[in-house]
Amino acid sequence: MTERYDLIVVGAGPAGSATAYYAARAGLNTLLLDRQEFPRDKPCGDGLMPHAASEVALMGLGDWLDEPHHGKFTGLSLYTQTAFLRQGVPPTLHGPQGYIITREETDAKLLERAVSAGADFRSGHRATKLRRTPAGDVTGIEAENGSGSLRFDAPLVVAADGIGGFASSGMKAPQNAVARRQYFKNVGGPNHQDIHVFITKDMNGDGAGYGWVFYFGDGRANVGAGVSTRALARSGRNLKDYFDRFLEEPQLAGWLEGAEAEAPPKSWSLKMGMWGAKRYTQGLLMVGDAGSMIHPISGEGVGYALESGRLAASWAHEARARRDFSAATLAGYEKQLRHKRAREHVSGYAMVNLVPNLTLMEPLFKACEKDPDARRTLIEGFTGDSPIYSLLKHPKTLATALRQGIKEAVSS
Ligand SMILES: Cc1cc2nc3c(=O)[nH]c(=O)nc-3n(C[C@H](O)[C@H](O)[C@H](O)COP(=O)(O)OP(=O)(O)OC[C@H]3O[C@@H](n4cnc5c(N)ncnc54)[C@H](O)[C@@H]3O)c2cc1C
Repeated sequence: MTERYDLIVVGAGPAGSATAYYAARAGLNTLLLDRQEFPRDKPCGDGLMPHAASEVALMGLGDWLDEPHHGKFTGLSLYTQTAFLRQGVPPTLHGPQGYIITREETDAKLLERAVSAGADFRSGHRATKLRRTPAGDVTGIEAENGSGSLRFDAPLVVAADGIGGFASSGMKAPQNAVARRQYFKNVGGPNHQDIHVFITKDMNGDGAGYGWVFYFGDGRANVGAGVSTRALARSGRNLKDYFDRFLEEPQLAGWLEGAEAEAPPKSWSLKMGMWGAKRYTQGLLMVGDAGSMIHPISGEGVGYALESGRLAASWAHEARARRDFSAATLAGYEKQLRHKRAREHVSGYAMVNLVPNLTLMEPLFKACEKDPDARRTLIEGFTGDSPIYSLLKHPKTLATALRQGIKEAVSS
């Protein structure tokens, strides 16, 4: 028997649960399905940046954020080859902090909110096919749950399947980064109220990426590294190699003395930056990683997954009210998303792609050490709280960095 819904959401990560939560609350009969059983792990840095924490609080989970075993960070420490920058993070709806919470716990909690709002959740269900009429109208999906194939009807589907391949023909852009993380107990280090980000010489070389140490509230830490696939191709190295060398960096090796790994590291891939993906078509919206919403500099995606889910749900509601699921109507979702995020994505994308070697950024890092306003802007560009082009508002510091860069280039 086919079951009929107003909306089907494929994937119950942050993007899917947010979509289903807001859609169900708005009165849409919503099906949310995931191929996995929950709670489930998802390789991640587990960082909820300030704006992500605000999205979580908007879903009624503000008090849950403050549970004592959760990490709370009030600052970001950035270590580069020559500079050390520290900056307090911008306030959230829930105070001047961000959080470190395992994705196993966060995703289960967000899913609980979607279910309590009225979404019909099916775990262990893998969506296999998007169904359309010959005219292109979406009529639902096909899925399998281990004991056979099933059909679910709906005029609108939201793909929230992360890097999964559901409904991706002509929609998703190829992955352009990979990242690896490992949980440790008893990690040392100077300040557990900060998140620590390292742009090491090894990572700088091919413009690869960065490493991190994020502390939970219970003595554990998430240690990881992310690198671009372009850097892997250039260097002929693999992610494991970058990650292992990161753990051997003298500063980090010191912090890890006496630490104990909880389990082997896990890796996953990412598509950073909004560009190259299509986020809507007739009867279909893409949210979160499926919609290529990861920040181009930091690799942070949970906040954008939640935000895109919230916006997609409002457009699902609008489309149903109009009884119009055409691409022209659903384009409103894309327009709204671009209005909110395009500037920071374009400028971040430009920085990541136009700077061939992050060593060239060292004079800028150094100059920002001495200018608190420029430093705030730089760090907020990293956390996604400000577009990186806002650095143009600090011409003196940019000029100092440029002069220093030229001096070093001439003398080398
Ligand atoms: C190592 C690493 C570190 C990161 N660190 C951070 C960080 O610290 N902070 C941050 O904000 N972001 C971070 N990110 C990015 C972040 O993990 C993603 O942006 C986030 O998971 C996106 O959520 P999502 O809901 O779009 O997708 P996902 O969380 O990937 O969820 C997709 C869901 O879809 C399900 N699914 C897939 N295919 C199907 C199908 N056919 N049928 C049914 N279900 C399906 C999957 O089982 C999964 O549950 C990191 C990424 C990596 C790889």
